[in-house]
Amino acid sequence: MSKAMETDVQYLPGVGPKRAALLRSELEVATVGDLLHLYPFRYIDRSTVQKIADVHPDQAYVQIMGTVLKVRLFAKNGAEITAEQVKYNLANRLSVIIGDDSGEMEVVFFKGVKWMHGRLIPGKTFLFFGKPQTFNGRINMVHPEFDAPESAQAGVLTGIYPSTEKLKTGGITGKVMVRLMSAALELVLPTLEDPLPDYVLKEKGLVPLSFALRQIHFPADQNALAKATYRLKFEELFLLQLSLLKQKYVRSRSAVGLPMPRVGEAFHRCYQALPYDLTGAQKRVIKEIREDLRSGHQMNRLLQGDVGSGKTMVAVLTSLIAVANGYQACLMAPTEVLAFQHFNNISRYLAPTGVKAALLTGSTGTAARREIHAGLEDGSIGLIVGTHALIEDTVTFKALGLAIVDEQHRFGVDQRARLWAKGAGGVHPHVLVMTATPIPRTLAMTLYGDLDVSVIDEMPPGRKPVQTLCVGENKRIAMYNFIRDEIEKGRQAFIVYPLIFESEKVDYKNLELGYEEVIKQFPQPRYQVAMVHGKQSAEEKAFHMDAFVAGRANILVSTTVIEVGVDVPNASVMVIESAERFGLSQLHQLRGRVGRGAEKSFCILMKGYKVSKESQKRLDLMCATENGFEIAEEDMKMRGPGDLEGTQQSGLPISLNIASLAKDGLILSDARLYAEHVLEQDPALEKPGNASLAAELRKDKYVRKDYSQIS
Ligand code: ADP
Ligand code: MG
Repeated sequence: MSKAMETDVQYLPGVGPKRAALLRSELEVATVGDLLHLYPFRYIDRSTVQKIADVHPDQAYVQIMGTVLKVRLFAKNGAEITAEQVKYNLANRLSVIIGDDSGEMEVVFFKGVKWMHGRLIPGKTFLFFGKPQTFNGRINMVHPEFDAPESAQAGVLTGIYPSTEKLKTGGITGKVMVRLMSAALELVLPTLEDPLPDYVLKEKGLVPLSFALRQIHFPADQNALAKATYRLKFEELFLLQLSLLKQKYVRSRSAVGLPMPRVGEAFHRCYQALPYDLTGAQKRVIKEIREDLRSGHQMNRLLQGDVGSGKTMVAVLTSLIAVANGYQACLMAPTEVLAFQHFNNISRYLAPTGVKAALLTGSTGTAARREIHAGLEDGSIGLIVGTHALIEDTVTFKALGLAIVDEQHRFGVDQRARLWAKGAGGVHPHVLVMTATPIPRTLAMTLYGDLDVSVIDEMPPGRKPVQTLCVGENKRIAMYNFIRDEIEKGRQAFIVYPLIFESEKVDYKNLELGYEEVIKQFPQPRYQVAMVHGKQSAEEKAFHMDAFVAGRANILVSTTVIEVGVDVPNASVMVIESAERFGLSQLHQLRGRVGRGAEKSFCILMKGYKVSKESQKRLDLMCATENGFEIAEEDMKMRGPGDLEGTQQSGLPISLNIASLAKDGLILSDARLYAEHVLEQDPALEKPGNASLAAELRKDKYVRKDYSQIS
């Protein structure tokens, strides 16, 4: 890294301490290098001049050749003042009417009024460049840049940089930004070092960094800009993958894992007692896990599988391997309801094995808790299922060898770390993280680039597709009638209400009102309606939940507490109220609650009166596909990866500056393959030819917590 890059921006000509402070607070730009890595988010072809009549308020920027027709000055109180009074700084606003042969429009200035007034003289013509907006029903521009008419240069692309109101009023306009970039390049280019070695540039057909930096800011033409953009995207994704894969290699060579070579009797007994065959995908995943467990290295595996793909079975069989080798296993779930359900299912699977399981949650009574603690300490409990209660300090294991986490995104990093610290003999337990939130491949490669990923991409046989429809309030009565018909056939229904944190109060009210209406529609004794939400006591919740699971209640009204895991094969209808308020993957999770039995199932998305275009798109997508990965890909495209549900907590390992995980999947795959290739030749990047890569990876942004500690 050259010294020039690390120069404080304040030393660039035209900056100084004041503007430097602004650049830092508004754009996080502290050094010349930061500045040069702030790329234009758009380019304007400054040779294009638009007619005033064609200007539209939705346009990001327009350039107009306008003649000044009329200039008016206004004081703070709105009264018009004379040019004379400007001298005494009374003017607060300058309104200029400009015109071309197609029409007229107003441009407005609030700053530098005196100076603008001196230049914008009626009869003179300028090129105005700015963002149009609507004000009082008419189009105008506030603080456009203006230039002599001859400055319209044919074919020159001008970069538009991110900006804020504070930057503009602080004098850092778009034009100034361009000047700063030019000065920064002049300073940096002579001593610039390329982090990518020559052989990489050659093999991947990339332009050198100096060319890329110059062209990204001052493109000669579209072709040069494309080459620069490609090079910078590739570099970003390649270095990221290189850092992730290098960590993974280091870890897989060094991290000691508890040896678990045996499969054991219990495994086989459980397997043989299963009422069904495992799917091919389940078998493959179990094989991958077995390899990990006997490798002598710590397993760190993410298990992705759509709702209902049969992850629980994989968890059970994996636990039995741990037990066969003298270790204990724990399975941690995000909610009590889910832990309870897991425990019930698992106990059934374990019955033929003689392995003892227990359930530990926040509402486990004192006496039972004491007994469980003792059982974990003396090793008589082989598999413990529970919630966060498992990570309390009072819980100690005789020999914890395997930690399974269901729906990992609900646990914080610290919580996970505390669980890992309970491993036998101070060694980290093997870790299996299960998630039903399908993560697009490109995102998984980056988020979990240093984890091993297994995917169950096959559903157990006999699953019927869920028919999804989206209807408005006018179909509400029909919806209730439909539920009645299904109940008549012996089925059950979910009705889910949104519960969004920010509007919690209103949402609970809606839930209560909804519940009352459902009870009116489905009166006792003919119908039984259960209700579950987060404000109930654990007993109350369990009571209602049991009633529904056991089939005593026909309908379960709830918030999204049932989102994950709950398994009631007899339920054939999922009604989602105010569906437009849910995110895509949440809708997908909820829909996964039905279609688990032999009967045809339905998901009814009830939408409100006002639905935004974006929300409608989500609802349409839900009706069009049931494929979780497809939905996740679309979700990412619509919202960008940072917003993707389930990833907020884990976050991206580093923020990307120019590449997009949603759009640059191909470059990412290529960059990853190439990073693997480079590391195969030189795993520690010790060869002289890779010195610049090694130096780059020592930078702060790549040095982060080792995932084996936290996932
Ligand atoms: P999830 O991946 O959502 O946790 P589960 O493990 O809860 O899925 O499995 C969903 C349902 O499918 C359960 O009722 C389970 O018994 C059943 N199941 C799992 N594996 C198979 C299989 N190979 N064949 C048939 N049914 C299966
Ligand atoms: Mg599950």
